[in-house]
Amino acid sequence: MHFTLKFCLSYRYAADSTHLRLRSTSWSAPIVWSDTYNASVLAKYYERHPVMVGLIVFAVGRYLWLYLGNFLNSANTFFMVNQRVIIYIMLDDFYYVPWINLNRYRTVKIFKIKQEWKWQDISMMRMKIISEHIADHIRYEVGYVFCVDVDRVFKANYGLETPGDSVAQLHAYWYKESPNAVPYERNESSEAYIPEGKGDFYYHAAVFGGTPAEVLKITKECVEGIMSDKGKNIETVWHDESHLNKYFFLHRPTKLLSPEFCWDSRQDKTPDIQTVKLSWEVKYYGLLRRLV
Ligand code: UDP
Ligand code: MN
Repeated sequence: MHFTLKFCLSYRYAADSTHLRLRSTSWSAPIVWSDTYNASVLAKYYERHPVMVGLIVFAVGRYLWLYLGNFLNSANTFFMVNQRVIIYIMLDDFYYVPWINLNRYRTVKIFKIKQEWKWQDISMMRMKIISEHIADHIRYEVGYVFCVDVDRVFKANYGLETPGDSVAQLHAYWYKESPNAVPYERNESSEAYIPEGKGDFYYHAAVFGGTPAEVLKITKECVEGIMSDKGKNIETVWHDESHLNKYFFLHRPTKLLSPEFCWDSRQDKTPDIQTVKLSWEVKYYGLLRRLV
């Protein structure tokens, strides 16, 4: 008994003198940290099994000219280096597409979408647009697809350690908290409702991904929840993120990314955060959340 427990603990945690880093979940999904994989082994594997990776990003209204340039430049440098990538840009105005020299492994596809009235709606409508594009064409074009907020910047190699069937991002603010302390939706009438005492982790909607089939399921189910709530005049506490958390509560992700893969640069780094792969840009809420 004593042995078993010891074995489980050393398997689930990479313990060192200063901290504990959870490396797998109770349902045996890996949690990827910057030192839990061997990049050259992965590169060799994918050399023999090439895969196309999709990156979907929305840049609507002020987010377009404020963030898209830096986002694309950083993705060009750090996202899936030496892998073929299709970047899908969803925007509302072609005029502001930044001029960027992308390397030869990158293809860009740009789609025009309409401006929603409220920023909450833009954020939530992403789920619908993503599902439509995956069903229409993305599922024939890539093996894996990631959806990432545009107000982020890639800071270090973000590569083949990240794809999986369904990939969720641990939220930098909440990853050390018990599920009771995280901001799940607590309104019982909402489709995103998660009862007290339930749940595994709080996931960040700024990054999610997986195979197109899985991301299609994720986004479709989130859209259904969002629409049903809208019909009841309910807006969840964290919008699409609340619905995404409900989805991953019901259908647990097969791979989790540590907070290094989406870190808030204003937050002090704790010893478990060794390499920041993607970081949050400064948010000018006053400017961004006005429409005119
Ligand atoms: N977004 C956009 N224009 C908007 C609002 C949102 O393009 O007016 C997109 C953009 O990709 C953004 C994402 O939706 O990164 C999520 O919204 P936001 O970043 O404001 O959410 P937060 O990170 O503050 O939760
Ligand atoms: Mn954001």
